[in-house]
Amino acid sequence: MKRLFIVMLGPPGAGKGTQAKKLAQAFDLVHISTGDLFRENLKNETALGQLAQSFMNKGELVPDDVTIQMVEERLSRPDCEKGAVLDGFPRTPAQADALEALLLKFGAGVKVVPYIKVADEVLVERLSGRWMSTAGRVYHAQYNPPKVKWIDDLDGSQLYQREDDKPETVRHRIDVYKAQTAPLIDYYRQKGLLVEIDGTQGIDGVTEDLLKAVEEA
Ligand code: ADP
Ligand code: ADP
Repeated sequence: MKRLFIVMLGPPGAGKGTQAKKLAQAFDLVHISTGDLFRENLKNETALGQLAQSFMNKGELVPDDVTIQMVEERLSRPDCEKGAVLDGFPRTPAQADALEALLLKFGAGVKVVPYIKVADEVLVERLSGRWMSTAGRVYHAQYNPPKVKWIDDLDGSQLYQREDDKPETVRHRIDVYKAQTAPLIDYYRQKGLLVEIDGTQGIDGVTEDLLKAVEEA
């Protein structure tokens, strides 16, 4: 069977992580979030984590070469044999080219690129209410609250707010997205892979549209 690779595209706060987890479950794929991988490295105090930290705290992108190398290593692991849902990667045209070359080596390619569209003013509200679990599960104070405030539903651990989800950093991340990542919308549209998804719906409505987009791809 051919491996299935899905690239989630959209601004910070669009719902990529929330939806990537659901797609991965639905299609039995691994969910690979470069943000989660960097945060794991940070927590484990690796050299990569230390390098990434200064960029992440400022809301800047981590340089392409280290990011690409990290993803290459991750995609080479056996659990990716059926494919993956990529969340937060690629974020620059250079990363997209590197991904294409890497997948070509596996005899595979990107199958579909859902682009989750959400207006800027909604993003700040979503990110300022985002609560994370250390295991990477994503909640929202109003839109996707845990059963008990600040407590993870599954393992009972304490939830936290990301340092880079402060409104001023969020605004900078949106600018960085527009300058460096938004060109990927046309990049994938030209390849005929882009499917626009209305990200302003409730979480379940977005999931429904995404499932349809992947099935029809
Ligand atoms: P991204 O990975 O694109 O940055 P997330 O999946 O982390 O986005 O979602 C950002 C925040 O918005 C989270 O707090 C999440 O619970 C919430 N959220 C995600 N999708 C929706 C939605 N369709 N409606 C309302 N809130 C949402
Ligand atoms: P969000 O869920 O809000 O889109 P992420 O968790 O994906 O944010 O990313 C958090 C931070 O990690 C980014 O602001 C950036 O510093 C770094 N990062 C994640 N993915 C990449 C990437 N593909 N290229 C460069 N930096 C990245």
